[in-house]
Amino acid sequence: MLPANRHSFSLPQPAHIVRIVRENYRTVTFTFDLSWPDAGPGQFLMAWLPGLDEKPFSLLHNDPLQISVAAVGRFSRQIQQLHSGEQVWLRGPLGHGFQSQPGPMIGIAGGYGVSPIHFLATWLRNRRERHVIIGARTARDLLFAERFRAAGVQVHLCTDDGSAGEMGVVTVPLNPLLAAMPDATIYACGPTPMLEALAAICREQHRGCQLSWERYMRCGFGVCGSCARREDGWLACQDGPVEIIPG
Ligand SMILES: Cc1cc2nc3c(=O)[nH]c(=O)nc-3n(C[C@H](O)[C@H](O)[C@H](O)COP(=O)(O)OP(=O)(O)OC[C@H]3O[C@@H](n4cnc5c(N)ncnc54)[C@H](O)[C@@H]3O)c2cc1C
Repeated sequence: MLPANRHSFSLPQPAHIVRIVRENYRTVTFTFDLSWPDAGPGQFLMAWLPGLDEKPFSLLHNDPLQISVAAVGRFSRQIQQLHSGEQVWLRGPLGHGFQSQPGPMIGIAGGYGVSPIHFLATWLRNRRERHVIIGARTARDLLFAERFRAAGVQVHLCTDDGSAGEMGVVTVPLNPLLAAMPDATIYACGPTPMLEALAAICREQHRGCQLSWERYMRCGFGVCGSCARREDGWLACQDGPVEIIPG
């Protein structure tokens, strides 16, 4: 069973970096001297660097806390300048994460979406079958393939340019997996176009899926409205970030 998710106001707690691992040319994993044993896969934290900003990051692990950060802008570049022993303020756990379903797992991850999907795969380690499809632009953008293999997960890679795995987007390796595993649940995290494509496939096939959406957010607990979906007011921070779409 995955732990019950909490999504409530919490104050930032000081945490010290105890380990830094470089995952690829732009992504780094931080381990902190803090644990949130009740936090589950798909939930996130807000990391605060006083004087700069506070940004959401998916949990890679809860005990001890781990996050992976891709350097793409001001905050993510700045946090990557920190060294072991330095302090970050962390607030959470926030949001609703993945819900475990019986049967095989098909995880689908684009970019740093590998982070919550890896956490989920370790929670579901007793499942008969666990597959993950990792998609990226090129081989150098791929993340966590070895981590998944080490956790006993069957890994399927795809890249836009064919420099690693199959050439194309995640739906290329997905279609044969879906045909072979009619009872599998899809759990996905990645860029919006990827999630929209997956939602369309699942709708067509009347399959349930769990999709973790990334939306710009400020407060992280449903007050500011920054992450509201225009069509229906769904709040990524409080109602999600994982959306459970029934089959
Ligand atoms: C629920 C949730 C979970 C998240 N989990 C993670 C996580 O686990 N790891 C992580 O690294 N980030 C994660 N993010 C994104 C993170 O919160 C920041 O948005 C990200 O670090 C960029 O912030 P910044 O201030 O560095 O860059 P910004 O100033 O916000 O952006 C700088 C530029 O980079 C572009 N950009 C932003 N994101 C990306 C991207 N992914 N790829 C390419 N270009 C981009 C922007 O469009 C902009 O042009 C998550 C966001 C949400 C909402």
